[in-house]
Amino acid sequence: MKILKFGGTSVGSAQRIKGLLDIVDPKERQIVVLSAVAGTTNALVEISQAFLAGKRETAIELIKTHKNKYEHLIKELFQTEQGQEKGKNLIDYHFNYISSLGNEMFTPVEEKITLAQGELLSTTLFHFHLEEIGVPSVLLPALDFMKIDEDNEPIVEYIAEKLSNLISIHGSNQLFITQGYICRNSFGEIDNLRRGGSDYTASLIGAAIQADEVQIWTDIDGMHNNDPRVVKNTSPIANLSFDEAAELAYFGAKILHPQSVFPAQKYNVPVRLLNTMDPQATGTLISKEGGTTGQIRAIAAKDDITAIHIHSSRMLLAYGFLRKIFEIFERYKTPIDMITTSEVAVSLTIDDTRNLGDIIKEVEDFGRVSVDHNQTIVCVVGDFSANTHGYAARVLDAVKHLPLRMVSYGGSDYNVSMVLDTEHKTEALRSLHNRLF
Ligand code: ADP
Ligand code: ASP
Ligand code: MG
Repeated sequence: MKILKFGGTSVGSAQRIKGLLDIVDPKERQIVVLSAVAGTTNALVEISQAFLAGKRETAIELIKTHKNKYEHLIKELFQTEQGQEKGKNLIDYHFNYISSLGNEMFTPVEEKITLAQGELLSTTLFHFHLEEIGVPSVLLPALDFMKIDEDNEPIVEYIAEKLSNLISIHGSNQLFITQGYICRNSFGEIDNLRRGGSDYTASLIGAAIQADEVQIWTDIDGMHNNDPRVVKNTSPIANLSFDEAAELAYFGAKILHPQSVFPAQKYNVPVRLLNTMDPQATGTLISKEGGTTGQIRAIAAKDDITAIHIHSSRMLLAYGFLRKIFEIFERYKTPIDMITTSEVAVSLTIDDTRNLGDIIKEVEDFGRVSVDHNQTIVCVVGDFSANTHGYAARVLDAVKHLPLRMVSYGGSDYNVSMVLDTEHKTEALRSLHNRLF
């Protein structure tokens, strides 16, 4: 079975929703994972923020504006009176529900329920559209099988069991539709897999049911060798290994959710990145065999990084020092992205700053601490294994005119990463592109 995931722009209008059938073959057994219609999750974030801030009128105004967009979409999507009515009832239900959540105390629990409405809407609209044109499909509620634990880690065994049961109930059906992004947490509450999480849903489903292939359909022809939003003349990469793709996704290539490669890699399910706007384009195939040796493959950048520098003479010749530092971050469930050390100092980066104040207070027991905000990690992915030489030098040479805060080499065979002030990011990406490709 194949998993086909379509992102926000791929379901961004009535025309696009209808156009899905140019790619989805209803006679083939498959699971279609949909994101919310483009712009919806951003709007739901805005609505939630207004409610959280006690600005009820602003929230209601935003709800009205957004509902209006859906009213237009429905007019174009459905041909029959019955279809129109079903569509209208659907959007009334979801937008009234969001409004009603703001009547009582609006907490992060209500926020997550609000954020889930986008994917619930898009999948039901597609299902109703198929129904109207006589194509059989089954809507699988992601909230019945997609689950994360207390550390926000997906529980693949649970997903596999629940999903297999749901699928087996509909033994003869070919086309299944489900929501990306949304899930339940360890309390059974509605939660999500973080922004861009529909990719993660698709690869988790692919892993759980040992799919033949996961296809991520988006608005670009595969993983490019640099960020196309920043650099001109980037080009798609035909093949990547899981490790290379994971580094690129983790370090900022927006085309893939940061964690989405891991389940596919663990269960060896190939992932194809394809372009909804140009279905014939080759795209990128991510697989076990996709890597190449002796090449620099791609560059990515991750913004909103905070760098923490800890200087301590107690570190000199001491053991257990790093463990004590790491334990603080672990206690605050704050992942460390990058780390560099010297005999008396350690620098590390985080992107989740929710507990920064408390973390710093505790780290200060160990030495002098300084913090730099607005940093960017630039990551160059390629063959940096110990038996290659000259590649790291080429990378550093390309950014020799820029002030580097940290450099990490040797952590994996696939990347060289550096941290610099975000104001230098564009220049770093362009200069690396011009010199490396
Ligand atoms: P979707 O809504 O389909 O999930 P996203 O916006 O999340 O789509 O991801 C696709 C976008 O990722 C592209 O339009 C492109 O601007 C951006 N992007 C950033 N880095 C890369 C890269 N290295 N290769 C391809 N696309 C990238
Ligand atoms: N709709 C969600 C978001 O915008 C998930 C996704 O598109 O992948 O983040
Ligand atoms: Mg995305």
